Amino acid sequence: MENYWNKEIECMSREDMKKLQDERLVKQVKHVWDNVPYYRKKMEEKGVTPDDIKSTDDLHKLPFLTKADLRDAYPYGLLAKPLADCVRIQSTSGTTGKRVVAFYTQHDIDLWEDCCARAVVAAGGTNEDVCQVCYGYGLFTGGPGLNGGSHKVGCLTLPMSSGNTERQIQFMRDLGSTILCCTPSYAAYIGETLHEMGYTTDDIKLKAGIFGAEPWTEEMRREIEKSLGIKAYDIYGLTETSGPGVSFECSEQTGMHINEDHFIAEIIDPDTGEVLPEGSKGELVFTSITKEAFPLLRYRTRDICVLTRKKCSCGRTLVKMTKPMGRSDDMLIIRGVNVFPSQIETVLIEQGYAPNYQIEVDRVNNTDTLDINVEMTAEQFSDTVKDIQLKERELVDAIRTILGITPKVHLVSPKTIARSEGKAVRVIDKRKLHD
Ligand code: ADP
Ligand code: ZN
Repeated sequence: MENYWNKEIECMSREDMKKLQDERLVKQVKHVWDNVPYYRKKMEEKGVTPDDIKSTDDLHKLPFLTKADLRDAYPYGLLAKPLADCVRIQSTSGTTGKRVVAFYTQHDIDLWEDCCARAVVAAGGTNEDVCQVCYGYGLFTGGPGLNGGSHKVGCLTLPMSSGNTERQIQFMRDLGSTILCCTPSYAAYIGETLHEMGYTTDDIKLKAGIFGAEPWTEEMRREIEKSLGIKAYDIYGLTETSGPGVSFECSEQTGMHINEDHFIAEIIDPDTGEVLPEGSKGELVFTSITKEAFPLLRYRTRDICVLTRKKCSCGRTLVKMTKPMGRSDDMLIIRGVNVFPSQIETVLIEQGYAPNYQIEVDRVNNTDTLDINVEMTAEQFSDTVKDIQLKERELVDAIRTILGITPKVHLVSPKTIARSEGKAVRVIDKRKLHD
C-alpha cells in the first residue's frame, strides 16, 4: 500500500486545493447563513452576507466564533441540520472547564474517520496492522475517532479505551499490536509499566504510535520512542472541528499536515484578530468547509502555533502546523512572565528526569509562587538529603535560565505523582481557585 490514504487530495497542487476550498467555502457559508440564525446574526452585525464571500480571499470578512459563542448557543444553537439527520454527539473533555457538545451526521462521521485514516496510513498503517486504541471511548473524541480511522484502513482494531495498564500490555503482547493510539502521557505510562513488568521492547511488536490530544515536547517524544521502541507520530484535533485528525504527522516528523480539503487554517494575532502572514506564530483559527451538522466558520482554537508550506519529503502538499506550544489559556503568567508548562517539561527531560511532574502556582503576599514537584526515577533516587538538595539546585538553575524566574523545585520519591491515562493534569493554579 502506498503511504497515502488519498494521494490525489494529500498531494494536490496548491492551485487545485485553493479552487476546491473556494468552492466549498462559498457553499458552506450559504449553508450556515440559511440554517444557523445565531451565526447569521453575527454576520449581519458585521455587515457581511454570503454574496460577499466569493473565495477564500474573502475569508477574513467573516466574524470569528469563540468558545463563548459555543457556550451561549449550547446545546442546539449552532446546529445546521435537522436533529433527524444527526446520528451522534461527542463532547470536549472539559480541560478548561467548559463543555462543548458537537453534532455529527453520518456524512460528518465518515469524513472525520477519513481524516483519522490518513493519520494511520501516514504512520505506516496498513490492513496488516494490529491497532490498539487506548484513547478514552465515550463522549471524548479520541477513542471513537482513531477507532474509525483504524477500521477504514483495515487494521485489526483493539478498542481498549484507557486504563488497566497491565491488561493493555498483556493484549499488546498476546495479539502482537503494531500501532498504539493514546495520549502521549499515557504512552509514557504504558512504557514505564512495560519495563516494570520485566519486559523490554523485544517482547512487543509495536512499530508506531499515534499520540495527541494534549501538548507534548520533542524531548518527551524521544523518551517514548525509546521506551516503546517505536516511531511516535503527533495527531491534532478538537471536538469543535470533529476530533483528532484535523492534522497529522508524516514520516518527516516536523509538524502536522492539515487536512485542507476539510479545514481552512489561519493564524491570527490573538490580541487584535489580525490575520498574520505564513510563518508567524499566533492563534490557530479553523473553518470547516465540509461538515454538515456543526460547521464552524473561523473558530478560534486558542492553540498557539506556526503554519508552514515548506516542501515536505513525504510528498504531501497539505500545509503543516507546528506542535501547539499549549493554548493561550494554558499559558501561565507568573510574576509577569509568560510560562508554558512545555518549557518546564523540556528542561526536566533534558536533565534526565521522566515526564512525571506537577506545577503549582499560588499567590502569597501579592507575589506569585511557582513550585515544581518532580519525581525522581528509581536510579536517581537517593536517601541523602545533601544529594537531593544538590539535584534540586541544578534544576532550579536550569529552569531559571529558560524562564527567567526562580522556581522552587521539590524532588519527590518515585511513584508519588499520579500517572495519567488520558490528558495529564500538569498545572494546579491555586490563584484561580481563590477567585
Ligand atoms: P478540551 O478543550 O476539553 O481539552 P478537546 O478534547 O476537544 O477538549 O481538546 C482539544 C484540545 O486539545 C486542542 O484545542 C488542543 O489544545 C489540545 N490538543 C489536541 N491535540 C494536540 C496535540 N497534538 N498537541 C498539543 N495539543 C493538542
Ligand atoms: Zn509530510
